[in-house]
Amino acid sequence: MEVIKLQNIKKSFNENIVLKDINLTVNKSEVVVIMGPSGSGKSTLLRCVTFLEEPDGGIIKLGEQEVTAGSQMNKQRKNDIRKLRQNTGFVFQQFNLFPHKTALENVMEGPMIIKKIAREKAKQKAITLLKKVGLADRMDHYPAQLSGGQQQRVAIARALSMEPMVMLYDEPTSALDPELVREVLQVMKELAKEGMTMIVVTHEMAFAKDAADRVIFMDDGLIIEEGSSYEIFNNPKEDRTKRFLQDVS
Ligand code: ADP
Ligand code: MG
Repeated sequence: MEVIKLQNIKKSFNENIVLKDINLTVNKSEVVVIMGPSGSGKSTLLRCVTFLEEPDGGIIKLGEQEVTAGSQMNKQRKNDIRKLRQNTGFVFQQFNLFPHKTALENVMEGPMIIKKIAREKAKQKAITLLKKVGLADRMDHYPAQLSGGQQQRVAIARALSMEPMVMLYDEPTSALDPELVREVLQVMKELAKEGMTMIVVTHEMAFAKDAADRVIFMDDGLIIEEGSSYEIFNNPKEDRTKRFLQDVS
C-alpha cells in the first residue's frame, strides 16, 4: 500500500535548479535511504514533502491527502498542507528541541497544542514514547542537560507523538559525536522493524544495509539510481554512484 508519492517535484532557488524532476513512491512500512553528495538536493526534497519549501511544481500525495505545488493559496489548500505536516514526522540534523522545556514537555507539546489532547493523556503517551527511545530516566531533563544522542532521541519521540504516517530524517546523526551515533540508529532500526514508514537521508552505510528496503542515490537534483542496499553498494551501475561510495567508505 502506497503511503507517500512524490510526482514531478521541481524546485529552483533563483537560477539554481535544485530538484529537476523527482518521482518517488514509498509503500507502507518501507524504509527508503537517500544518499548523495552535499548540495545534491536531499534536504530540499524532504523540505518540499512537507511544504517547508514550496516546490515550483509537482504533486505530493500522503495517504488520501494530495497537494499540488504552485497552485493558489486558499483556505482549503492551507488546510491540506497543515494536515500533510501533521501526518509527517520530521527529524533534523540539529535536534531543534525547545530549550526551556524538559524532554517530557517537548514530547507532550505537539499532541496537546496541535491535536488538543488532554494533558494527562499526552503525558502518558509521552512517557511511553520516551521509554521506547531509552530515555525513561531522562524525562525531566532539559535539552542542555542531555547528550546530543539523547536530544536526538527526544526529537524522534516528539515526532512520533503526532502518530505520523511517515517519518522523514535529514542526516539525523551527522551532528553527533561518533560514539553517540549508534544509539540513535538503533532506535531508528527498531522503529523500522515495527513497520514505520520512513525516508532517511544518511550516509551511514551500516544503517542502510541493516534497515533499508531501498537505497536511492541522488546527484544534482535527480535520482540517479536506486536499488536494494546490496545492489547499490556492491554493484552500482552509475559512475557517479561509484565515485560517491568510494568517497564515503
Ligand atoms: P543536500 O541536502 O543534498 O546537501 P540541499 O537540498 O541542502 O542539498 O541544497 C541543494 C542546493 O540548494 C544547494 O545548492 C543549496 O545551496 C541550495 N539551497 C538550499 N536551500 C536554499 C535556500 N533556502 N535558498 C537558496 N538556496 C538554497
Ligand atoms: Mg542536507
